[in-house]
Amino acid sequence: MSNTLDGKVVLITGASSGIGEATALALSAEGARVAVGARRVDRLEALASKAPDQMLALELDVTDQESVRAAIAKTVEHFGALDILVNNAGVMLAGPIAGADTTEWTRMIDTNLLGSMYTVHAALPHLLERKGAVVQVSSTSGRISSAGNGAYAATKFGITAFTEALRQEVTAQGVRVVAIEPGFVATELTDHITDPTMQAAAKDMAASMRTLQPEDIANAVVYAVTQPERVAVNEILIRPTDQT
Ligand code: NDP
Repeated sequence: MSNTLDGKVVLITGASSGIGEATALALSAEGARVAVGARRVDRLEALASKAPDQMLALELDVTDQESVRAAIAKTVEHFGALDILVNNAGVMLAGPIAGADTTEWTRMIDTNLLGSMYTVHAALPHLLERKGAVVQVSSTSGRISSAGNGAYAATKFGITAFTEALRQEVTAQGVRVVAIEPGFVATELTDHITDPTMQAAAKDMAASMRTLQPEDIANAVVYAVTQPERVAVNEILIRPTDQT
């Protein structure tokens, strides 16, 4: 890739809100054509209407391999290629291990870990052809596990493992792989927590600091994918200044 995103084609998973939405806007502002995927199509269409020539709204459920393959195929059909995958879709259903509703574990593993693995698998032939890039949205929870966050952190540690193996397998073929590891970002992510104690803790945490904004993470993605071809930014850990 060159220094500009003009002519580059990006697919972003989980683009209907938060980090994915901000990243779609940031990459399209840099000239990229962006396919935006998620389950809430109304939100995607509202986003795509902001840059109709540059964005394509795609219904996508990353837990469904058929849906993933169809989204990649539609991206390539519509824009003619796929250069960059931003693997961002995720859910965080925080809660303690004892007494957990294990269907929430299944949902997180299916979405955050298996979903992102399926998406890499389906996108890789195109990325190899274009010497493209994979942006894996992990988390500080991909480096440090904490009480109440075991299953979510397990998915993000899993992403870290998969990402490093992927990097070793494709870097010689010119595909660059970067893990982005945000701390606390103000998004809808915590709204889905069902455990009342964890829900309250998330609200307290948000109120206690100047949180990151989705645009802060979008800026990190833009930085990573606009470096000269010889530069592979492999990992960006980015926390709010106020987060210990
Ligand atoms: P949001 O809840 O705003 O965004 C999550 C996105 O994932 C939504 O667009 C949602 O869309 C999508 N999504 C969820 N399930 C699926 C699915 N099965 N198929 C396709 N898309 C899906 O939260 P964030 O923007 O914060 O989260 C984005 C990523 O950033 C996640 O991977 C999260 O783990 C990570 N992250 C967030 C941090 C934070 O503090 N906010 C910190 C560190 C990492 P829809 O419901 O329409 O399908």
